[in-house]
Amino acid sequence: MPNRSKSFTPPVTPPPSPAASRRGGPSPEGLLGRAGIGPARAKSLGAAGVASIEDLLWWLPSRYEDRRHPRPLASLKPDEWVCVHGEIRAIKARRGARKGLHITEALLADETGNLHVVWFNQPWLAMSLPQGTEIFAYGKVSLFSTRAGLRLQMDSPEVEKVSPGGDGGAHTNRIVPIYRKLADLSARPIRSLMFKVLEGPFQLEERLPSRLLSQEGLPGLEEAFRNAHFPSGDTDIHALETRCTAAHRRLIFEELLGLQWVLRTSKGEREALVGVVVDKQRATGDFLRQILPFHLTNAQRRALREIFDDMASPAPMYRLLHGEVGSGKTLVAFLAMAACVHQGFQAAFMAPTEVLAAQQFRKLEELMASTGLKAALLTSSVIGTERRRVLRGLASGEISMAVGTHSLFQEKVAYARLGLAVIDEQHRFGVEQRARLVAKGTNPNVLVMTATPIPRSLAMTIYGDLDLSVLDELPPGRQPAITAVRDESARHRVETFLRKEMDAGRQVFAVFPLVEESEALDVRAAVEAYARFQAGPFRAYRLALLHGRMSAAKKEEAMARLRSGEVQLLVATTVVELGVDLPEASVMVVEHAERFGLAQLHQLRGRVGRGGQRGYCILMRSTDAGAEGAERLVLLEKLRDGFALAEADLALRGEGDPAGTRQWGGNGFRVANPLRDFDMLERAREWARRLVTAEFQWEPGEEGRFRTWASSVRYLWGSFGRIG
Ligand code: ADP
Ligand code: MG
Repeated sequence: MPNRSKSFTPPVTPPPSPAASRRGGPSPEGLLGRAGIGPARAKSLGAAGVASIEDLLWWLPSRYEDRRHPRPLASLKPDEWVCVHGEIRAIKARRGARKGLHITEALLADETGNLHVVWFNQPWLAMSLPQGTEIFAYGKVSLFSTRAGLRLQMDSPEVEKVSPGGDGGAHTNRIVPIYRKLADLSARPIRSLMFKVLEGPFQLEERLPSRLLSQEGLPGLEEAFRNAHFPSGDTDIHALETRCTAAHRRLIFEELLGLQWVLRTSKGEREALVGVVVDKQRATGDFLRQILPFHLTNAQRRALREIFDDMASPAPMYRLLHGEVGSGKTLVAFLAMAACVHQGFQAAFMAPTEVLAAQQFRKLEELMASTGLKAALLTSSVIGTERRRVLRGLASGEISMAVGTHSLFQEKVAYARLGLAVIDEQHRFGVEQRARLVAKGTNPNVLVMTATPIPRSLAMTIYGDLDLSVLDELPPGRQPAITAVRDESARHRVETFLRKEMDAGRQVFAVFPLVEESEALDVRAAVEAYARFQAGPFRAYRLALLHGRMSAAKKEEAMARLRSGEVQLLVATTVVELGVDLPEASVMVVEHAERFGLAQLHQLRGRVGRGGQRGYCILMRSTDAGAEGAERLVLLEKLRDGFALAEADLALRGEGDPAGTRQWGGNGFRVANPLRDFDMLERAREWARRLVTAEFQWEPGEEGRFRTWASSVRYLWGSFGRIG
């Protein structure tokens, strides 16, 4: 039975296509004129990152529905989803009782019986499906009561005329692909488009060597696309859902091989570069000791040692600093920056939001106060004379440290001698953005940071070309937050608890989910809750609101009130996830917790209990959250370590969940899931190794095609630009 639950994978912007990156303007491989695509459609698809037939084909179905095996009408039962086949015996359109409602009613018949079919607000159907038309329809059978008694009927089925050959088309009488929205297209028009593309002649050059395909038992590229979109009638539905068909495995293998190839080659190339050299002895001397606010944890000490070793060697550093929220990554980065700057280089620290950049800037200034080193903040709110001053200072070298957002790599920004680029919350940035910051220097050292846990078994295989430092220790006195899942019935007790904490001088958060596709709605939920809290349970307290749609000035104002301790309760959308550091915060209430990913929740709860007091994270589960969602939340009650959580979440989800991998750090793939496809990942790695050796025997022409393809893949994965 196809999965009919409401949960679905949120749409992601596809990575820029390799083809698009190579292409200046329209070209034979472009979309215009293919499969009936006009200029407007080509443009909207282009804006969504789809510039070629191949790009389009990579928009793979998010799931499949079994609409095979039309059922005899006499055999139908209520509440079944079925495909039926029959002839329209009668059809008429009429207006409904409600104004503006059009009802089209038809009677469908086959050899065994009749079925009433009803559509709403599609009055044209009566014209396009006249009496005598033979159709396939797919929908849910329901029991409908009329004056004459109960009867079976089908409401608003998807319908398709039977073609002269007796088949359905793209939408019925087969295993049907279901797509996530793409540009302005919903599932059915995308399906029609894919069908046309795959039906017509299209040519995609094979790029994997034939020897590899045959040894791995994988189909060619075209066949793989055809079967992944429109699987043949005898395909196993379970294999489709779990992406185990030969077609899927081919596409997965290709993605994994591309990554492994890039990791292999780019690390080798980078090691041959000559970059900025920061002397280790001087870096680790008294200078740093003077500014240190606390004793470093052992993990911080180890990470710094690794960083200094890297920076002291001629090849540029490419290091990933991985550590739970609150493990003290920022301090490590700042010390590396200080060492670099102390020896005459510049350092830039890039954060994903203005709020975060401002906060980190303040911390950096505090840390450097005694040194005389100059830091500047650069975000899009820094304008006018101040912006000119900062740009001049960075270009001349007079300003040695910059903290900022995307502003740091804009065209007009130049650095006199960038020696270190730090990228915080690296997964929040696109490949290109990270690369553009790095390109502001001449082979600068690069430190990227992330708190997203991924299972250890996987880390090195994915991050293969980065060197890894792990902060596996929290600063002294910090304990993980106590986590509890609650539902609406506990609302009053939760509120009482919040008041008690606030009365004790603590700050508390209420966090609302923010999901891209319903951003406006989600913001409204936060705004409404804020008003409700203010009027009701928290009347006597000082509240503030923070969400992404507020102006930078308003956000900064809320943050300032929060920092000063004036605000006791902050109502926020997920902006706080991004590293807000408030030592007095003790409780985090997460509303609609089931709508968050576990990785995100884990990071959220790291935000409370930082000042030595016990932190609490209360996960409010909605009444309509399914059992599965609830079970996942319980993992957070039990497990405190992010890596353990990542493994457990994976085990619980089982197979075939691309969203899950994205959450734990596998984004960037379109179908591969390095956790699920671990065995293939290992084989892809082995193949990448074989393909670089001189012994590998290519068939004529194969090597050139493979290398051309691999260099376009490099655009997706190259220069440490992956995954978070
Ligand atoms: P991360 O960026 O890894 O989430 P932060 O760098 O924001 O963590 O550090 C969390 C908090 O811990 C900050 O308030 C920071 O000042 C403090 N901190 C960092 N290192 C130490 C340490 N060695 N001892 C005590 N407190 C520390
Ligand atoms: Mg941080």
